[in-house]
Amino acid sequence: MSRADLTVLSGPTAVGKGTVTAALAAQHPEIFVSVSATTRAPRPGEVDGKHYLFVSDAEFDRMVAQHLLLEWAVVHGTHRYGTPRAPVVAATEAGRPALLEIDLQGARQVRPSWPEARFVFLAPPSWEELQRRLVGRGTETAAQRERRLQTAQAEMDAVSEFDATVVNVSVEQAVADLVELIGL
Ligand code: 5GP
Repeated sequence: MSRADLTVLSGPTAVGKGTVTAALAAQHPEIFVSVSATTRAPRPGEVDGKHYLFVSDAEFDRMVAQHLLLEWAVVHGTHRYGTPRAPVVAATEAGRPALLEIDLQGARQVRPSWPEARFVFLAPPSWEELQRRLVGRGTETAAQRERRLQTAQAEMDAVSEFDATVVNVSVEQAVADLVELIGL
């Protein structure tokens, strides 16, 4: 068992954490990628249990009350997202490297409870590029985008809290950098 085999991938909103994580998981199925619980509704194409565990507010309350989550946060001031603890513990105890793709508030909670984890900040090539990606996603309203932009600005300042930085110039390069950091 090695508790050191947990990687926490975080970074500003819309930097591409989800895309990079999916590409890494496809290339390296030996890594356990945590499936988060969330109270937000599924987007078209999202599968319950694969992309997220889509739960009600009451169910999320129960998970929090029973200490079933390793961390959780309200993201973008709307919905709650959290990491179910048991699957991550089971994977790492079985010697499988594990990865959490979570927001900065969540990463800050994991730091004291799992100090051996490797904290990786995924950064955009530039602030302009991040803004472009934020607008380009097109799944949010203007008010939601503005809120995300404000969050992202504060999140960029958090880079110094992390053990390593991967710049998301391309998905392929970011995955290659992560593979090297994790030692897959
Ligand atoms: P989306 O709703 O676009 O899928 O995700 C919004 C944000 O929630 C992303 O920045 C993502 O990193 C974050 N997120 C996803 N799962 C978790 C989680 O389990 N915990 C925390 N703290 N953030 C999460």
